[in-house]
Amino acid sequence: MEECIFCRIARGEIDSSIVYEDENLVAFNDINPQAPMHVLIIPRMHVSSLLELGADGEQLVGKAHRVAGQIARERGYDRSGFRVVVNCGEDAGQSVPHLHFHVLGGRALGWPPG
Ligand code: 5GP
Ligand code: ZN
Repeated sequence: MEECIFCRIARGEIDSSIVYEDENLVAFNDINPQAPMHVLIIPRMHVSSLLELGADGEQLVGKAHRVAGQIARERGYDRSGFRVVVNCGEDAGQSVPHLHFHVLGGRALGWPPG
């Protein structure tokens, strides 16, 4: 998956504003933020969508959510609230085929989503 843009960000080949990283995950600011906080958390390993996630990815998904909470808490959004979203496939508007968790906060987020 040499050409995958998020794999390239994870490898440091494309600049991004990284807010967290560890051996499994990288989190960086979305280039086109939809809220005052709009962070993307990605696994370092290439997984094209939630549908491609195997049993070996289960821990990683749990960790991504824990990291999302940690990032939100650091910014004070534990008090005001925040949202974690995964878009999967065309109808959901997934535009990058590498699993990513959007972490949004800092404004009232509408529901149902558009
Ligand atoms: P999706 O639409 O697939 O759920 O979300 C993809 C997200 O990746 C979008 O919010 C888009 O702004 C973001 N994005 C796409 N390319 C880049 C990039 O090169 N750098 C960063 N930081 N974000 C990107
Ligand atoms: Zn990838």
